[in-house]
Amino acid sequence: MSDKIVTKDKPEKPKKKRCAVCKKKLSLLDFGCRCGNFYCSLHRLPEQHNCSFDYEKSGKELLDKKNPLVVNDKVIKI
Ligand SMILES: [Zn+2]
Ligand SMILES: [Zn+2]
Repeated sequence: MSDKIVTKDKPEKPKKKRCAVCKKKLSLLDFGCRCGNFYCSLHRLPEQHNCSFDYEKSGKELLDKKNPLVVNDKVIKI
């Protein structure tokens, strides 16, 4: 008897992320930048990898204009 056991053997190829700057292997804890690339802890800052993401545009500061309400004091004369 020869039972052929079909083993679901999926050759898992874990994509190892590497820092786009120094090519250092990244751990699972490392996260990608908003520009779409992954960086190590040293290069994850936008200024460290010449980030192409436009932070200035996305981080528009809403100018809170104070609109002073002009209240007309009406002196009610009886
Ligand atoms: Zn790096
Ligand atoms: Zn970036």
